[in-house]
Amino acid sequence: MNTTTLVKNNQAGELRDTTGLNFFEEDQNFNSLLKHYLSEEDFERAKPLLAELGKIAGDELDQLSRVSEKNPPELVHYNAKGERIDRIDYHPSYKEMERLGYSKFGMVAMSHQKNVLGFPGDFPYVLKYAFWYLFAQSEFSLLCPMSMTDSAARVIGKYASEEMKEKYIPKLTSMDMDELWTGAQFMTEIQGGSDVAANTMTAKKVGDHWELTGDKWFCSNASADVALALARPENAPAGTKGLGLFLIPKKLEDGTLNHYRINRLKDKFGTRNMASGEITFEGTIAYEVGDIKNGFKQMMAMVSSARLSNSVRSAGIIRRSYLEALEYARGREAFGKKLAELPLMTETLFELLLDSETATASVLHTAQIYSEADKGSAKDQALLRILTPMLKGYICKRARYSTAESMEARGGNGYIEDWVNAKLVREAHLGSIWEGTTNILALDILRAFTKDKVGDAFFDDIAHRLKATEDPLSKRTAKLLSAVHKKIQKQAERVISLEGQARELPAKQLMNRLYHLYAVSLLFEQANVEINEQNSYRKLYLTAQYIHRYFLSNGLDDVLIADQSLLDVFEKLVNWEPVQADAVGKFLDEVELLSL
Ligand SMILES: Cc1cc2nc3c(=O)[nH]c(=O)nc-3n(C[C@H](O)[C@H](O)[C@H](O)COP(=O)(O)OP(=O)(O)OC[C@H]3O[C@@H](n4cnc5c(N)ncnc54)[C@H](O)[C@@H]3O)c2cc1C
Repeated sequence: MNTTTLVKNNQAGELRDTTGLNFFEEDQNFNSLLKHYLSEEDFERAKPLLAELGKIAGDELDQLSRVSEKNPPELVHYNAKGERIDRIDYHPSYKEMERLGYSKFGMVAMSHQKNVLGFPGDFPYVLKYAFWYLFAQSEFSLLCPMSMTDSAARVIGKYASEEMKEKYIPKLTSMDMDELWTGAQFMTEIQGGSDVAANTMTAKKVGDHWELTGDKWFCSNASADVALALARPENAPAGTKGLGLFLIPKKLEDGTLNHYRINRLKDKFGTRNMASGEITFEGTIAYEVGDIKNGFKQMMAMVSSARLSNSVRSAGIIRRSYLEALEYARGREAFGKKLAELPLMTETLFELLLDSETATASVLHTAQIYSEADKGSAKDQALLRILTPMLKGYICKRARYSTAESMEARGGNGYIEDWVNAKLVREAHLGSIWEGTTNILALDILRAFTKDKVGDAFFDDIAHRLKATEDPLSKRTAKLLSAVHKKIQKQAERVISLEGQARELPAKQLMNRLYHLYAVSLLFEQANVEINEQNSYRKLYLTAQYIHRYFLSNGLDDVLIADQSLLDVFEKLVNWEPVQADAVGKFLDEVELLSL
């Protein structure tokens, strides 16, 4: 047979993607951060495991994810005998991803069980999120059920009776797929997503259990074995104060199905391989979790942990977006050059690199704070109170931009479903909607300042990282950053001093600025270490660029920056080769001219 090919070799370079790359080994920023946050022993122990997941993420997991997206789950209402069963059937590719996540890599078990994956004792928090970050680069949706399973076990462990803990935690955290029970979180009702106080599902005490009646409008992992749900006990007050937290088992003690109907599965823009349903509860048997008068607060523990998990996943998506764009731009040719050699494409790639390195640093650093907060550190608890909504608010929203830029970097091909970009765009859009939209998180940050008074903890923590070393360039950068710090702290104080609507209006801008300050402080801290240990100014160069891009863009001057050092150092930045001091010096000369 005469076959012809549309692709003419070498005419336009190679059309590359990331298939076959090891997402762990390729990611030098991630490696260097892990080295910083983990003990040497833990890092060495983790390396082969992360390399294994990195390899799978760069190939098998990616393929499974794409196949499962094209084969969404199906809801089967009745069995052959006409009995209502509401079973959800998943494609084998989804089941295989579940095996990889829950069983092979123990990504839920690792937060709850000892000696997971050969780690003696407790698994370090930073390392846990490292696994989630790698996994998310190829599969985002399944991490929602996995995160809910993880956080359901956490909430039960924190608040439930001993009997409930013994019954449910081993199941929710099992690495044996035949034993595993997955979890869900049923909170949103049609009238109350952001405004949870408007929830109307009722709970009636009957003997040793409760019966729930009402509807939930968004129930991801609708086939879960165990769901935690909010409902209002009879005679409880209105608002969030009147909501109790209940555990709903899928099956009753006698093995029959609990009393609820999955009406339909959502036809979603993305995360199509994961089942999100609408459910009607009709005298559904449920059990109270913890203090019935404290249901909302307890549920927020689940939501907070899901928010951090979402930020980690979005950081993973941002990293994947950068890597896809870089690979393509290094292969594809236009105007007689590789795309990566063209100034404006360099700028696009650099922006993605900067977003990726800061997002990854921010989530891993916060994972460390989460760990300390859980050990009882009041300072870290205060920090976590603001960092969790801040990361979710900024990084998840930014992932929309990064995925879209990466799509455009692939030109027309980026828009075609053969490539991963469209899937990444779809997934990124959900990250900023569920578990609190961007606006809701910005408002939460205001509450963190006004009600929980965490402002001092936040700004002190940043100031602590902005200290210069003896290096003259470090000193110049610290001076700029200290001015930025002062200015943003003042802005925050001003916003908090306002009342009502006037306070809400600038909340999103404030959230973004707080994030940038946090991110740049981490960059600067790493830069100082890098200068001392490796005599390289790579991270200091990134710090100076970050200052220019996010703190000095107040007027026309911004675009007139004459420095072209980016074109000289770009390859070094990408390849993690040492960057010389003079590149930073020249850039800082320009930045200081524009200074605050
Ligand atoms: C695919 C998918 C899966 C989901 N899975 C689950 C799940 O498993 N469990 C669950 O409980 N929920 C789930 N959700 C629900 C999700 O958490 C909510 O959709 C989300 O919290 C927003 O609520 P809402 O849809 O009611 O929007 P609304 O609350 O109606 O918000 C609409 C818009 O108004 C804005 N807004 C609302 N209040 C304010 C305010 N005070 N100031 C300024 N702007 C405001 C919001 O930011 C948003 O942009 C899921 C959603 C999706 C899309």
